[in-house]
Amino acid sequence: MSLANDSDRKSRLKVGVDVPWVTSWSAEAVGGVGPCPSVGGRLALRQGEKPGFGRPIYSQNHFRRQRLSIRDMLCPLCGRPTQAGDRWSQTARRVPAGVLRARGLFRSAPETASDEQVLLDCGAIAPGHRACMERSLSQCPHLGGLANSPLLAFPDVWKVSAITVAATGPPGPVAAAYAAPRPPVAIAFLQLCGVTDAVARRWRTRL
Ligand SMILES: [Zn+2]
Repeated sequence: MSLANDSDRKSRLKVGVDVPWVTSWSAEAVGGVGPCPSVGGRLALRQGEKPGFGRPIYSQNHFRRQRLSIRDMLCPLCGRPTQAGDRWSQTARRVPAGVLRARGLFRSAPETASDEQVLLDCGAIAPGHRACMERSLSQCPHLGGLANSPLLAFPDVWKVSAITVAATGPPGPVAAAYAAPRPPVAIAFLQLCGVTDAVARRWRTRL
């Protein structure tokens, strides 16, 4: 006789409708590293794949789905591809490339951007469809605090970089973010930085 784990039961909440597609579920255990197609076969953190089972863990994105959302520009809410002109971010921040570099975040800033070029730093959250963003803002209590911040249009030029962790040892918190790559490392999440047309000539005043 097998005892079903209550925490792994199928939820009545629907993935991509009631719960963001990218969100982790309690039935999706994190563990180990291995080559992952989401990052071209490089080593990446592994996680079970059982969306919709157990309970959603809103504070934790699923490793593989997160990487796919950035790599393939999939809406983190519904999981479907976004198109140029309909990519929006609620949480990105505008920052001149020079400021990122001054903080040592060279890997985040696109090499082609001048120091005064304004970037849209999305961190690890891919832009989503406007309709999905507006719907989630009106329905999701977790996003209530963001209701007053404007949706920012994501530009057509961007850079993807990887947040890596040491491949040895347990996959704990992503403490090695932005750390210099030193093999062996495994990719945890991908992050995204858009390049806007705006320039901030006095960017040094923000240092
Ligand atoms: Zn969507």
